[in-house]
Amino acid sequence: MSRVFNFSAGPAALPLPVLERAAAEMVEYGTAGMSVMEMSHRGKAYQEIFVRTKQAVIDLLGVPGDYEVLFLQGGATAQFAMVPMNLLGEGGKADYVNTGVWSRKAIAEARKFGTVNVAASSESTGFNRIPGQTELELDADAAYCHITTNNTIFGTEYPYTPDTGDVPLVADASSNILSRPMDVARYGLIYAGAQKNLGPSGVTLVVIRKDLVGRARGAVPTIFDYQIHADADSMYNTPPTYAIYILGLVCDWLREQGGVAGIEEVNIRKARKLYDCVDASDFYTCPTEPASRSRMNVPFALATPDLDATFLAETSAAGLVALKGHRLVGGMRASIYNAMPEAGVDALVAFLQEFERRQG
Ligand code: PMP
Repeated sequence: MSRVFNFSAGPAALPLPVLERAAAEMVEYGTAGMSVMEMSHRGKAYQEIFVRTKQAVIDLLGVPGDYEVLFLQGGATAQFAMVPMNLLGEGGKADYVNTGVWSRKAIAEARKFGTVNVAASSESTGFNRIPGQTELELDADAAYCHITTNNTIFGTEYPYTPDTGDVPLVADASSNILSRPMDVARYGLIYAGAQKNLGPSGVTLVVIRKDLVGRARGAVPTIFDYQIHADADSMYNTPPTYAIYILGLVCDWLREQGGVAGIEEVNIRKARKLYDCVDASDFYTCPTEPASRSRMNVPFALATPDLDATFLAETSAAGLVALKGHRLVGGMRASIYNAMPEAGVDALVAFLQEFERRQG
């Protein structure tokens, strides 16, 4: 076995037991005589997988009864467009908090359909923090308020749930879904691409309050209408059947970790170990404000970028891979989603200390 510790931002590491179970079931699933990939999405065997997976998401996330759970395609990027197409109404307006590249992309899409009020932005400080509640300039007449709960590139994460009054809160939770408890009732809509904490790429989870379904603008294409997907229980067209199946296995694994509360404890510990190591050193620096730091994506820089190539070569050789930071931030980034074992973080911390001793 020569599996590495994979610190990729996404697609990201999956739990080993999930991969092993998928491998065991790859050619023949149960008594079906075929792979899950080969099944009709409307057949009995797949329907059972789908129903179980959807219920697992409801249970783990704590989705109240007045919400729809949808499995869609097009990634979180499709949601940047679907949210305004469905919720903005003709000539409508919405609040967006700009905390990085993904927020900015969501804003650009919404501007095609209506008016965007940037309620707060951390752009002037290089997106190194999350604006606080008192900084939000909210419009009481907005159709919704959009936030990015975890900023994958800049390594920041909301330490609080914004209070938007009666205005529905919409969240892109792609990079921290199911990593910490989330009070779903505080949100009108939550979406997340699967390829960080939920499973493989190709499926996007959408959790939407039922009263927000059925508001699509007149000319919205059928495939982009939440109502169509809700009415068809995500089977209006062929869903990404295999990705949903793996997502179900990830949910089973998460339950074995004590659910979201259990994994949160591990995530807190993993993040603390890494930030403590960086903060204790004069060699490494972290660009983000401590109160806004992400538990999922940890950016850090070496004392000089001249050492970046050596660092990346040596970490790779040591089985610690995909640590190169995003080109907009530079330096390094360790993505430590749910599936990153604590042993992976321990190994990285040990490497960081040893590298500093040699190069510092
Ligand atoms: N939002 C966030 C927070 C992300 O991290 C990403 C992908 N890294 C996206 C949106 C875009 O997701 P996708 O590529 O699945 O469309």
